[in-house]
Amino acid sequence: MAVCSGTGMWQDIKEKGVLAMVQGLSYEDSVALTQANGTHNYKPLPVNVARGDGALLWDTDGKEYIDCLGAYSAVSHGHLAPTVIKAVRDQLDRVTMTSRAYYTSEVALFLHGVAEFCELDMVCPMNSGAEAIETCIKLARKWAYTVKGVPADQAEIIVFEDNFHGRTTTIVGFSSEEGYKRHFGPFTPGFKVIPFGDIDALKAAITPNTAAVLGEPIQAEGGILIPPDGFLAEVRRVCTANNVLLCWDEIQCGLYRTGKKFSWMHEEAKPDLMAIGKALGGGLLPVSAAVGTKEVMEVFQPGDHGSTFGGNPLGSVVALAALAEMETANYGERVTRLGAMALDFLLAMPFKQVKEVRSRGLLIGVEVDETVDVPALTAQLLANGLLTKQTRQRTYRLTPPLVITEDQLMEALRRFEKSLAAVVG
Ligand SMILES: *Cc1c(COP(=O)(O)O)cnc(C)c1O
Repeated sequence: MAVCSGTGMWQDIKEKGVLAMVQGLSYEDSVALTQANGTHNYKPLPVNVARGDGALLWDTDGKEYIDCLGAYSAVSHGHLAPTVIKAVRDQLDRVTMTSRAYYTSEVALFLHGVAEFCELDMVCPMNSGAEAIETCIKLARKWAYTVKGVPADQAEIIVFEDNFHGRTTTIVGFSSEEGYKRHFGPFTPGFKVIPFGDIDALKAAITPNTAAVLGEPIQAEGGILIPPDGFLAEVRRVCTANNVLLCWDEIQCGLYRTGKKFSWMHEEAKPDLMAIGKALGGGLLPVSAAVGTKEVMEVFQPGDHGSTFGGNPLGSVVALAALAEMETANYGERVTRLGAMALDFLLAMPFKQVKEVRSRGLLIGVEVDETVDVPALTAQLLANGLLTKQTRQRTYRLTPPLVITEDQLMEALRRFEKSLAAVVG
């Protein structure tokens, strides 16, 4: 097919329909159109995915891959999860999108179900993870001014180095990753960045104007960084002692990714406020939420916040089906068992070039040292039918859908070992 970035193809899309067009497009066509007409804010692996099923993906040439990225934990249920798809099918005969200008029973049940699942009181539905974090920031600030009594515009939020909370201008403003921020200032004030895992730095950073501590219990994008034992519980104690809200970002590490429902549950570290997203959408739709205690959440009054698609009937049934499936299919037990198997395998690999394996459940990072040719390893993995990307340069993530079978997981690990062997000689 002739690729054009100018005229002609839109007419074909209209007349032939998307499905017919998709079937006629080659790998080269897809890359060329993406490059010509899409902004270049991603650098995809050289693979054009055509189909998925569970933990497997197939490209347009029919080659099979094990998906070890899992859309950054958004497809924990696997590709085309049957129970989630059924929930969508059933809802498509009813109503899909109303906005929050009306009540719907689907949204009502979503709000109740998510609150109970999260063991908190109230829910503000959004779409993307970044929106859920922005919602938490607004809630924490309004709580600081109207409940805690912080003077106007003085509220501070403490965050951690190597955080990742999304890509809005406010959020990248408190990132410690230069590449996320460069050329995007000026940034929103009111954030203090302290080292992750350092409880003394936290104590020193708190002032009477501190509204909240915002952090990930495990920093996923930061390189699968796990804080010292006891840190999460200590953060909870320090927040309580200082009348500061604790807000955990569970968007990636939550919803059984680490074997527990939420990763703060590995310790006594229950938050006042929490952001969830990614797997909440069952791999089908963007669904996120800020969830919290009544004391915090009830600061929002009509008009304070909103989102046109946030809290729609279709997204609500998808999320409820996604959460139900996690408990019905006992994700916690599976993930703990599979995660232990994976860790055993990775620690037994004979390569001195593996600097560290950091993992909890199926949130796994394998850091390779400077001698490893990272682009060559990524290419080897792809050639061997394992899809993943590294984060922070040298940490390969193995974060497959949580429904991956034991056989598929072992096969993925063997492919990883084989690829590494090929690169390090
Ligand atoms: C992915 C992610 C986000 C942002 O979610 P988006 O849906 O991409 O906006 C926020 N926090 C964490 C920990 C994430 O992994």
